Amino acid sequence: MNVVNYASLNWTCEHCTWVNKDFDIACTMCYITHSGARNLPFQWEWQPNPDQWIPYDKLSSAQIEAAYQAGLPNVTLTAGYFRFLGGRHILHMDHLTRKFEQENTSTRKIRSVRRIADDDNSILMPVTSIDAESICAICIEPFAGDGLTDVVRLPPCAPGHYFHRLCIAQAIKLRDRCPLCAKSVVY
Ligand SMILES: [Zn+2]
Ligand SMILES: [Zn+2]
Ligand SMILES: [Zn+2]
Repeated sequence: MNVVNYASLNWTCEHCTWVNKDFDIACTMCYITHSGARNLPFQWEWQPNPDQWIPYDKLSSAQIEAAYQAGLPNVTLTAGYFRFLGGRHILHMDHLTRKFEQENTSTRKIRSVRRIADDDNSILMPVTSIDAESICAICIEPFAGDGLTDVVRLPPCAPGHYFHRLCIAQAIKLRDRCPLCAKSVVY
């Protein structure tokens, strides 16, 4: 059996100084998303209340993503935070409507769930044409002459807010709004 020593990989919250486990993405005390989350290729989040989204920990996220990639209609959460919770939490996935919900089978409570990932073209929308002098608003680099494959915009933005796919993917994993106009990205 593989034993991972998470104690050696703990991280300290930059906001409240609480020490979190390696597999946590959000701080267990203040729920602020760890800045390291920006480098994860995908992130699953759940909604405890209408104003807040909290990322699942890395192990739960990996379990959900595997089920998502396999096209499964649901998955019982047994990893990470859920490993001692007796398999009471089921995530339902409607792949057509992209409606995701977590159900607590004991309390029948339903929470909304969402996914943000570098490959999601419904949020990171490919761009077909831009002005020659356009630059990425995050890294301030011009979009090089290798075509537009890497250039995206966000659904709520007016034309002109263009970004490299990875630059904006990293930004919205931490804060789901356009860094230029601050419009919220709903997904
Ligand atoms: Zn914290
Ligand atoms: Zn960029
Ligand atoms: Zn914008």
